Amino acid sequence: MRDVEAALRKERILVTNDDGIHAPGLKVLEAIAHSLSDDVWVVAPESEQSATSNSLTIRRPLRVRRFAERRLAVDGTPTDCVVVAVNHILKDRHPGLVLSGVNHGGNLAEDVGYSGTVAAAREAALLGIRAIAFSQLRGGEAPTDFTVAEKFAPDIVRRLYSMPPERDLLFNVNFPPIAPEAITGISVARQGRRDAMVGVIEVNDPSGRPYLWIGHWGEDTTGEEDTDLAAIQAGAISVTPLHIDLTHEASLALLREHFG
Ligand code: MN
Repeated sequence: MRDVEAALRKERILVTNDDGIHAPGLKVLEAIAHSLSDDVWVVAPESEQSATSNSLTIRRPLRVRRFAERRLAVDGTPTDCVVVAVNHILKDRHPGLVLSGVNHGGNLAEDVGYSGTVAAAREAALLGIRAIAFSQLRGGEAPTDFTVAEKFAPDIVRRLYSMPPERDLLFNVNFPPIAPEAITGISVARQGRRDAMVGVIEVNDPSGRPYLWIGHWGEDTTGEEDTDLAAIQAGAISVTPLHIDLTHEASLALLREHFG
């Protein structure tokens, strides 16, 4: 692990998120990155971009705002931030690791498809850069508590960074909403699948006109045992390897037969 620590110390780390440049979770991840490396850059969206997935801004110009030498905001999506950072701001020396988050709220199961936090990591993986997305589940109405992330994320980064790099691979890490002492372990888990789906609520505005609100509400159902959902419910931190390739291998042969 000492070699890993030394290698990380010299590694260029890009930190981004989907909650925006002013989000407390971003500051937490910045501090974690600074504890690991001497070369930390932050390029994050100027405003909140949750649930933008890999949305790319291609029909309007983008502006970059510099808050400090290594701290910049882009008025676009998390994916825009990674693209702008790698191809423009850090074009002379690319980051070797992208950390995204810490998201305010979990990114479990099918959230992964909507999440801007995970999408930033996915974009980095597409660009051939190691990438980890971090999300902290909320416990009730209180502001998101990041003490579990602060305690456990540095070691998780070191462990994932010590593995041989794998093309098109990214990692999705979720922290349960409990105290650090109550954490039961770190669970390598599959992406889960909830029974509950995204829904629509119709409400009336103060003048009596209806409007719609999209979201998903209710309890997380766990289903199978080895999922991210089950890990969080058991009080563990979930670490899920995700891949760019969404091909359903098991259907390939059947489909070829079908079209043969
Ligand atoms: Mn978010």
